[in-house]
Amino acid sequence: MTAIPDTSTIVSSVRDPVRIVPLHVPDDLVKPLDGAAASAPKLTYRGGPLLTSVKVFTVYWGDAWSTPPLSDLASKLDKFFDFVLTSELMDQMAEYSVAGKKIGHGSHIGRVVVSDPAPKQVVSDATIQHLLERKLGDTKAGFPAADGNTLYFIYLPPGSVVVQGGSRSCQAFCGYHSDIDGKIFYAAMPYPGCRGCTGDLALFDALTSTSSHELCEAITDPVPGGGWYDDAHGEIGDICAWKTRQLGGYTVQLEWSNNKNSCG
Ligand SMILES: [Zn+2]
Repeated sequence: MTAIPDTSTIVSSVRDPVRIVPLHVPDDLVKPLDGAAASAPKLTYRGGPLLTSVKVFTVYWGDAWSTPPLSDLASKLDKFFDFVLTSELMDQMAEYSVAGKKIGHGSHIGRVVVSDPAPKQVVSDATIQHLLERKLGDTKAGFPAADGNTLYFIYLPPGSVVVQGGSRSCQAFCGYHSDIDGKIFYAAMPYPGCRGCTGDLALFDALTSTSSHELCEAITDPVPGGGWYDDAHGEIGDICAWKTRQLGGYTVQLEWSNNKNSCG
């Protein structure tokens, strides 16, 4: 968790197992690890669900996603999921398979633009959960029902801020994933309209990096803290936050490997 600039965020994330993509911090400002966090990362399995063949459904919340330039950004994100869910990034997740739960490739099962209701300027996690609960019961809304592998990726438009666990996107985080009652799995992706959430990357590359972070975490720890987790370091993506590589022409984040004892 070295990339979190503010100790109050660390305290709250210890109480709340939902881990966020922290803001990007330039390397020369990263503080050395201290105390318990200095131990080497090791994810351990806590017995909960895993998304063994994840089915990603992309949700673009707000009318702005229906017209350029955001409609172009959304279709690029859809293509990214089409690619990445059958890529070598998914093969990397296989080391976190357990008896009866073999992690394999996933699929991008569809997408929707939601204009009703319009997102508010400040969108709380409860509001995001409420949207899902409303739409999942509504066949006309075009949402697939949740099964044990469905993962809803919710992208917010520019001008909105997401609030989770008392902190705000672009002030403390750039994305997170969570669950509703251990049955509905989702990732919340605020618009990265700030330097803290793009770092040195172009906006689309920052979004694919943070999306890959949340994707791999949702696969290996869909109920935060109930799957593969490290009490000091968090989830698979947290350990390697903002370390990126190129894969199939896309920027993806490195993920922690227990087997290799490194980010890769
Ligand atoms: Zn994370």
